[in-house]
Amino acid sequence: MTEWSSRIQEFVNGITASVAVIGHDEDGVLVVSACNGVFFEMTGGRPLGARSFPVPFDTMVPSYARREFREKIEECFSAGTAQELEQAYDLREGTHWWRLSLKPLRHKDGNNAVIELLVTGLDITPRMELMQQLEISTSRFRSVVDAAYDAIITIDQQHNITLFNRAAEYLFGYSQAEVLGHSLERLIPDQFRPKHSENVHRFARSPVNSRQMDERGRIYGLHRNGSLLPVEIAISKINVNGVIEFTAIIRDIADRIHLMDLLQKQATIDELTGLPNRRAFTDTAENMFRASEMVSLFILDIDHFKKINDTHGHDAGDEALQALADVGRAFMRQLDIFARLGGEEFVAVLPETSLEQARVIAEKLRATLEQQNFVHTWRRGQPIPFTVSIGVATRAPGEAEVATLLKRADQALYRAKESGRNRVEYEE
Ligand code: GH3
Ligand code: MG
Ligand code: MG
Repeated sequence: MTEWSSRIQEFVNGITASVAVIGHDEDGVLVVSACNGVFFEMTGGRPLGARSFPVPFDTMVPSYARREFREKIEECFSAGTAQELEQAYDLREGTHWWRLSLKPLRHKDGNNAVIELLVTGLDITPRMELMQQLEISTSRFRSVVDAAYDAIITIDQQHNITLFNRAAEYLFGYSQAEVLGHSLERLIPDQFRPKHSENVHRFARSPVNSRQMDERGRIYGLHRNGSLLPVEIAISKINVNGVIEFTAIIRDIADRIHLMDLLQKQATIDELTGLPNRRAFTDTAENMFRASEMVSLFILDIDHFKKINDTHGHDAGDEALQALADVGRAFMRQLDIFARLGGEEFVAVLPETSLEQARVIAEKLRATLEQQNFVHTWRRGQPIPFTVSIGVATRAPGEAEVATLLKRADQALYRAKESGRNRVEYEE
């Protein structure tokens, strides 16, 4: 060992980084002329023991790392400039990553040619492992977000979109690339925009970190094609280095809304005739009672309807009910309602209508039905003749219940039946 290299050896032994001095022997073979213990640990080589420096480079560096390392060394020798590389070394206890930096150390006397260079290496394994974990958790996050059934959208404080998952792409009709970095506004219908940004500001200041958005009333998103999307939204916020980010999980509830509308309709509409049913009649009549003092009402019942069923069949009976429903509906004015109470019994509620006016309307309806003075294409080709009896009544001053008014109309109807049918009777 030369005096120079023993001085170097002293120096490098005191350092925890891996350090080596690289040069050439007299035959031009690349050698490690000095290195510390950490360099041995790095390359997985055993300390020299009886051997002494210089040691051929190829015997110290494992074959899989050799070529890349050599290329950098040669670059450093020939260009005379510092070089960097990151290498993985497989050791018995696992893989370690090193960041190596190569610097010219000694030049030929009176010449710029580099004859020795210094390699220093830092073990960056903990950082690499952290990055790997980060990568794993990032891809896990991404796959959860993208597999989610609900749309997930994240916005920054300026309301610009920073995350837009697959379900969001599907729901709103935009690709991620089209919306990232753009304002959330385009996903919100015009009429909700001012309220939305106010809501976000309020949420940003609130102590709550997540909640369901605006349970009152329906919330809508705006599809690319301009259609409104009924949605349910849960929002949350996180503070990333003092900057607040908002995440919205958006559920498409079009199916649910559709079902609710259908159930609502089924609950209030008579299936056979499409008229309001008894329940809808009661609700509407009660509202009319609240809104106006003068309300009249009549009950209509088909005469000898059993006979129609017996003679022409139940389907024909149904068709007569449908025809009557159409005629009755057409007879009503804007605020009136014509409903099916059940069987072949119908009711008309006429607000702002006196008993006499109601009687006139009822009489006209009766005559129209008797004379078949209406357009209906009978399925069996021939019309089904029928007549109706009607009982009319009007709200008594201060009368509170719809039921009592209905009862008086029913009594009038009974009298119409008693006195020969096909006629209108009204309360005395
Ligand atoms: P009245 O002149 O006294 O009213 O005699 P009616 O035969 O019309 O009276 P009733 O109330 O005894 O009979 C009503 C019949 O209406 C009995 C029932 O089979 C029939 N009916 C009830 N609902 C329906 C329906 O949805 N479709 C058909 N086709 N028939 C119905
Ligand atoms: Mg009847
Ligand atoms: Mg009846």
